[in-house]
Amino acid sequence: MKQLIKSFTYKDVFPSRLQPFTSVKESEHEDSEVEAFKKKIEHEVDFESSEKTCTKNYGHPGFIPVTELKTSHFPEEYQDQDLVDTIKLLGDLTVKIIVTVSDKVKIGSGRIFELTKSTQKGTCPCSDCRNNSKHTQNWWEIVVLTSIHVVNNKEDAENTKCRLFYDTEDSSLVNLEGAMVENSSQNKNNQICRLICVTCDEVLSNRIDDLLKKFIENYEKVFDKFWDVKNSEKLVVIVSHPHGTPKKVTIGKSDERKKISDGHSVLTYSTNTCPGSAGAFLYIL
Ligand SMILES: [Zn+2]
Ligand SMILES: [Zn+2]
Repeated sequence: MKQLIKSFTYKDVFPSRLQPFTSVKESEHEDSEVEAFKKKIEHEVDFESSEKTCTKNYGHPGFIPVTELKTSHFPEEYQDQDLVDTIKLLGDLTVKIIVTVSDKVKIGSGRIFELTKSTQKGTCPCSDCRNNSKHTQNWWEIVVLTSIHVVNNKEDAENTKCRLFYDTEDSSLVNLEGAMVENSSQNKNNQICRLICVTCDEVLSNRIDDLLKKFIENYEKVFDKFWDVKNSEKLVVIVSHPHGTPKKVTIGKSDERKKISDGHSVLTYSTNTCPGSAGAFLYIL
């Protein structure tokens, strides 16, 4: 089944070749998806159990655990180790988003997009530093891109946890705390939320910095390699946390982007998503 999404003009933040899509479907559809699981579940545990009763993609064929991804999962013309490595790096930058406001929980996916050392005066605003009156001077701001249907405003952001490196059930717990949202009017049109997270963990920030650099390097290499592949259909890969479970890769195809009037374009794609996939990055080749 083809799904309709809106795509985005993103020149302000991306070099021309790295224009991303975020997996945001037509708002009506997305709303109903979020609403459906909001009604069905009151907390995350119940939400995860919905994987077994999922009617959208029953049994989840084609949802590949990120740790098992290999070249043979891809269509023949895309069977390339550099592509697999790039998707795995995209996986390393993909986060599970958990927003808990009052007793409502929203689960989605997102992608770490930027990391900068904070130049603001004052001490680290993370909860550990605040609660324990630590005066940590060095801290970092991390931009996570997700959907405004997952994180919509400052209240959501302050009650958001991003779980990093959640590849398997046994993955250790690494969380980033949300602090605020930074939405321009353009982001609003695009339905992309720029969630700002904070950390004073230098080892973690170095690791993220390294992953971002490697991802861009690999992304460009793969882009160049496949530049001449003139397919009428594009490859569309999504790494997300369907039903809040450890990250899965889904692979599909799309038609060429179709321009529509308001400066946005529309893309249809066959790549599967489930509740919990909202906000994930679409990798298009
Ligand atoms: Zn701190
Ligand atoms: Zn499902």
